[in-house]
Amino acid sequence: MTVEDAVHYLARLRLRRAGGSASVHQPIVLLWAAVRAAAGEPRLVRWDSVRTDLSKAIVAQLDGDSREASAAYPVLALKASPLWDLEAAHQAPPAHGSGAARWLNDHNPQFGLSASTYALLATDADALDRFALAAVDKLDGTRAQQVLNAFGITVARPADSLPPPPVVGQAFPGRRAIAAVWGGNFQGGMATFPREAERVVNIFSDDNGPYPDRRVPGSGRIEYVGQGQEGPQKLSAQGNALMEWTRAEGKAARYWHRPVDGPFTFEHWVTIVGRHREWQRDRNNQWRIVYVYDLAPVGSPHPEEWPIDVAAEVASRSIDDTVPAAPPDTTALDAPTRGDLYRNLTARATARSGRPAGVRTATEYARSAAAREAVILRASGSCENPACTGMPCDVRPDGTALLEVDHVEDLARGGPDEPVNMIALCPNCHAAKTRGANRAALRSRLRVVARRAHAAALEDAQ
Ligand SMILES: [Zn+2]
Repeated sequence: MTVEDAVHYLARLRLRRAGGSASVHQPIVLLWAAVRAAAGEPRLVRWDSVRTDLSKAIVAQLDGDSREASAAYPVLALKASPLWDLEAAHQAPPAHGSGAARWLNDHNPQFGLSASTYALLATDADALDRFALAAVDKLDGTRAQQVLNAFGITVARPADSLPPPPVVGQAFPGRRAIAAVWGGNFQGGMATFPREAERVVNIFSDDNGPYPDRRVPGSGRIEYVGQGQEGPQKLSAQGNALMEWTRAEGKAARYWHRPVDGPFTFEHWVTIVGRHREWQRDRNNQWRIVYVYDLAPVGSPHPEEWPIDVAAEVASRSIDDTVPAAPPDTTALDAPTRGDLYRNLTARATARSGRPAGVRTATEYARSAAAREAVILRASGSCENPACTGMPCDVRPDGTALLEVDHVEDLARGGPDEPVNMIALCPNCHAAKTRGANRAALRSRLRVVARRAHAAALEDAQ
C-alpha cells in the first residue's frame, strides 16, 4: 500500500452523521491505530484490552457527551476497508446496530490496521502526517484540528491549501460545483463545508423545489422551512441541528439562492431571528408539522455590525414551538386538494421552456421532478399495474411507498417526460415491464392505464 492508496481509501470511508456534521468515530480509531504503527506497537489488539481507552478518546471529542461513546461502531464500520483488519469480520453484525458491542464483547476479536497499511505507517515518517490529515478531512476544520491534537499530531492542516471562503455574490452552476470547491454533500438544504477552517452553516434555497422559501413582503426576511420532506420534522435531523447550532450560538449563516433557471449564488449573510412551527403538507400530501426558521439578512457575519433590532432579536433566542392543535381544515377553500396538487404538478411538468431540444436545463430537471411527484401522488401508494401480483402496497422502512416511476414510452423513443406517459410501479412490475418476456404486451396495457389514471386524476375534485 502506498500513501496515495491509503489516502484514496480514507476518502472513500462513509462517515455517519451526528449532530449535523461528520462523526469523529472512524477518524479517531484510525488515528489511534496509525499512531500505534508509527510507534512500533503491535498491529493487532484484542477488543477487551482497548475498548475503554477508545471510548474515552471518542467521548473526549464529543465534548463529554457519552451517549455515542462506544468504540464498537467504528471498529466494525471499518471492516470493509482495505485499511482495516478485523478477526472473523464476516460474522460481524451491522456496525450501527445494538448487536455490535455485544458481538465484540462475546467474541473479543483482534483488530487493527491491515498489514500493508501498518507497514506503510511503521516505515515512512511522512506517511503518518498525510494519513492523519486525510483521516480527518471530512470533519469540520476546528474538530479536525482537535482530533489531530488529541493524538499529538502537530502537523497543521495546511491553511494555504484550503480554498478561500466564498464571497457574497459568488455564483456556481449548481451544488456539485460548490461541493467541488469546499467539499461536503450537495443535497439537503443546509451544509457546512469540510474544506473550511471555521464552522459556518450554509443555507441553500432552491426555487426548483421541493419547497421554495417564502420572502416576507416588505421586510427582506425569509421564512425557511427546516429539513425533512416527510412526516413531522425533527430538530435532530442533520440540517436542523445545524440551524439550531447557528441560532443558539447567535452566528451568521450564508444564504445561497437559486432562481428557477439560474445559478446558485451566495446572496448574503443571514442570521436566525426566530423559529416557529406550522402545519404543512409533506411530499406525500399528508399534513405534518414543520419548523420554520425566520432569517434576517445581515451585511456581515460579525454580530457587532448588525442592526441593533436584529441583534436584539437574535439575543432573545426567540422560539415559538406552539402549533395549532389540528391541521387546518382540509375542506377549506384555500387548502389544496389532491386534484389541485395533481393539476398543479402536471402544469409544472408540461410547461414549455422554449429551449432547443437536447439542452437539459435546471427548468427541465424541475419539470421532470414535478412529473414524478405527480405520478407518485396519483398512485396513492400502490402499484398502478392493475394486474400486479407482487406486493403492490409495500413500503420502505420510513413508511413511504416502495414505488418506481417509469416512462411507458421511453424518452429515447420520443415519449414525453410528462405524467400522462409515466407510471408508478412496484419493483416487481417495473422489472417485468423492463426485462420480462411479456414486456411488449405489458407496455401497451400500461399505456392505456397511465392515460386513464392521468385523466381521472385531472378530474379529481378531492
Ligand atoms: Zn406491481
